Amino acid sequence: MKAIVISETGGPDALVYTDAPDPVAGPGQVLVEVVAAGVNFIDVYHREGRYPMSTPFTPGGEGAGPVLAVGEGVSGVAVGDVVAWHQGPGSYAEKVAVDADKVVKVPAGLDPKVAAAAMLQGITAHYLSNSTYPVAEGDVAVVHAAAGGVGLLLTQMVKLRGGRVIATVSNDDKAKLAREAGADEVIGYDGFAGKVREFSGGRGAHVVYDGVGEATFDEGLTALRPRGMMVLFGGASGAVAPFDPMRLSKLGSLFLTRPTAAHYVLDRAELEWRVGDILSWIADGKLDVRVGATYPLSEAGRAHSDLEARRTTGKVLLIP
Ligand code: NDP
Repeated sequence: MKAIVISETGGPDALVYTDAPDPVAGPGQVLVEVVAAGVNFIDVYHREGRYPMSTPFTPGGEGAGPVLAVGEGVSGVAVGDVVAWHQGPGSYAEKVAVDADKVVKVPAGLDPKVAAAAMLQGITAHYLSNSTYPVAEGDVAVVHAAAGGVGLLLTQMVKLRGGRVIATVSNDDKAKLAREAGADEVIGYDGFAGKVREFSGGRGAHVVYDGVGEATFDEGLTALRPRGMMVLFGGASGAVAPFDPMRLSKLGSLFLTRPTAAHYVLDRAELEWRVGDILSWIADGKLDVRVGATYPLSEAGRAHSDLEARRTTGKVLLIP
């Protein structure tokens, strides 16, 4: 089969489209034909070596497609079922073997590409708004990079819980998308904390959801009200520097957390709860999953370049 293989970490050129051995479904696994593989920022961190991986490896953890074979001991999933996953290592490929307890069935009538697009970023937006800081009616939430993959879904989910969203974006096209997703106020990054105070009657936000990191973290702390929560969930602009906890006290007895999806999908029940909500909201027309761009698998490098250069909106998919 064809796959993307990284032999040496580095820039987008490190993503090499080449022949790779066909995977087989081991015990407890299913073999899937990848109809669409999701591109996520974590794939960039793996490619760069920011999150170390042993080489060579095929990047990507997310996708959807039909089951081609099932391994020993698998029940509940059969050949021909269409499934989606967000923890299936090596998904930038034509085929992948995924642990059967990590896949969910894609309902008939839902485009597998949309299912692939909704997995990691959807689960992330779900746990951020329902578990890390469960938004209450009327809460003010700052959503950075609101036109991105996580951002558009998170904006909609905060609105579903009755919160108010102050969204940051870098240009007018992205501002339009954030507004369409339901953001109450859409602003640029320059001096955003002052604007958050203005829009919250001088009090500040209850929560800042920050996946941008280095460029926004410090200012974000000053946008919070006393006992507000900084949810730092990524570093698209770079990693946040080491931090003195006394700052949390001085700025208003703030809370700081650095969550990651694996700790919010601890078991099958949690996976089914989050994905069940996401799929039912899609079916009911309450959640729009925007696929902003698709690229042939062979052009994974171009997809990464565009994601890193802030040229993408919504979800980016690779099509094998
Ligand atoms: P996005 O589609 O949001 O793309 C990143 C966006 O970040 C850009 O479009 C851009 O939007 C914004 N950005 C701001 N500064 C920069 C910069 N210097 N370089 C690049 N982008 C910048 O990506 P994802 O939805 O895949 O991921 C968003 C964040 O969420 C990432 O940090 C990712 O690591 C994190 N994440 C965390 C998870 C977790 O469980 N902790 C799980 C999934 C994702 P704009 O131009 O509007 O500023």
